[in-house]
Amino acid sequence: MTEKGLESQFSSLLKEAKVYLKNKDIKTVVSAWDFAKSAHAGQKRLSGDPYIIHPLEVAKTLVHWKLDRTSIVAGLLHDVIEDTEYKEKDIEKKFGKPVANLVNGVTKVTSLRLKGSREEVFIETLRKMILVMAKDLRVVLIKLADRLHNMKTLGALPIDKQRENALETLEIYAPLSERLGIGEIKGRLEDLAFPYVYPKEFERINKLSKRYYEQSQNTVEKMQQRLTKELEKNGIKAKITGRRKHLYSLWRKLERKGIGGDFEKVQDIIALRIIVNTDPDCYGVLGIVHAIYKPVPKIGVSDFIALPKPNGYQSIHTKVFSPNSHIVEVQIRTHAMHDQAEHGACAHWMYSSEKNKGVSDRELEDKGIKVGSKLSWVKELVRWQDELADSKEFLEAVKFDALNHRNFIFSPKGDVYDLPQGATPVDFAFVVHTGLGKYIRGATVNDKIVSLDQKLFSGDVVEIIKSKEARRPNRDWLEFVVTTVARREILKEARKINN
Ligand code: MN
Repeated sequence: MTEKGLESQFSSLLKEAKVYLKNKDIKTVVSAWDFAKSAHAGQKRLSGDPYIIHPLEVAKTLVHWKLDRTSIVAGLLHDVIEDTEYKEKDIEKKFGKPVANLVNGVTKVTSLRLKGSREEVFIETLRKMILVMAKDLRVVLIKLADRLHNMKTLGALPIDKQRENALETLEIYAPLSERLGIGEIKGRLEDLAFPYVYPKEFERINKLSKRYYEQSQNTVEKMQQRLTKELEKNGIKAKITGRRKHLYSLWRKLERKGIGGDFEKVQDIIALRIIVNTDPDCYGVLGIVHAIYKPVPKIGVSDFIALPKPNGYQSIHTKVFSPNSHIVEVQIRTHAMHDQAEHGACAHWMYSSEKNKGVSDRELEDKGIKVGSKLSWVKELVRWQDELADSKEFLEAVKFDALNHRNFIFSPKGDVYDLPQGATPVDFAFVVHTGLGKYIRGATVNDKIVSLDQKLFSGDVVEIIKSKEARRPNRDWLEFVVTTVARREILKEARKINN
């Protein structure tokens, strides 16, 4: 790519960012671009392209997700610490601490590779990753954007690297984006990784599905036209699109028991998506759809509006017979639900940044931004890794209990701490900050007042009730604390009296 080409791509990024960023933020983005260009000057990607294309693509994705200035700047600089002579300090000096922290977080996650390792190493690495990512959701989002571009350009890497990265994408990054509710990127990551990890299966499914997709394309177009007319008649404004199942998830489904590779048995290869303005419209559309196309008995309707999925996903799904009696899935949702489904965690992030600007919850909901706290997505990450640790898929024959000794303990703000088994609120206080250990008056666990020797369990939210003045840690606490840091600090203070 020519330098002119690069600059014009960057200008289109700016154009998109100007829609929601302030002028002074745009200026910072421009100076990050200049800095990144000079830092990576002369470096090339394995494809032979100038290196700077990569951070540019990452930043473009972040703008597409409407992330804030700090994220975009960090996206442009995300490989500077790892690949150039500049250090975290240099970034901090030029762009401030928040940007430096993000870049540092992304660098740390990148260095944690899951090299075809044994299961326990895999889970252990994942655990470390989650601790780094949980500090700031933006680290995860930048990492996902980074992975997306690296997967698009994977062909330029040596074969063994291709497989390794593609496998890591399937095992970590795709499920991660699913847990964060960013549906848009999950399917794309999987489809990019698919041919590298399972080349033969990919070939086969790709070929077989082509015919099937072509046939159904026709049907879907017909249904689309008919429904557009009917909805108009009924005064419902709707956007109707056809959607085909991603290839990787199609393959996984075909492999399932009871399906045995039979395309006819996969009922959502082709789906119609109907997007409307209000919740009541969703149900109105459902009635109209069923009036025209018979719903398939028994497998019928799922109402994820009344009962959202754990990651926040909302929609109504129904399966109906198409005019040529194929089964077609129809998904009905509002624009706000659609945004949430495609950009889940990004919307969470937007929420907290808008919130800081003093926008009310009501206004945010109106904009389709789901109200959620940091605690909820961090807990979702932790729950995911707990499930992985339990999952037979990863740990088939391995009797692995290291993870059982792990306790992820949360602060009310959603910061997560990794404490050993048997840890108590006193341990928690000292791990959060040694200074906090001097202000312990009491503690709550999950909003209930508890005694200080209460044992903590993974998932607990702990808050230390602080005393007004610093006081000497109680010597008796030595009876029950289990962390080195708590023990050391309590002993240190105790010795001060004796001397
Ligand atoms: Mn990168």
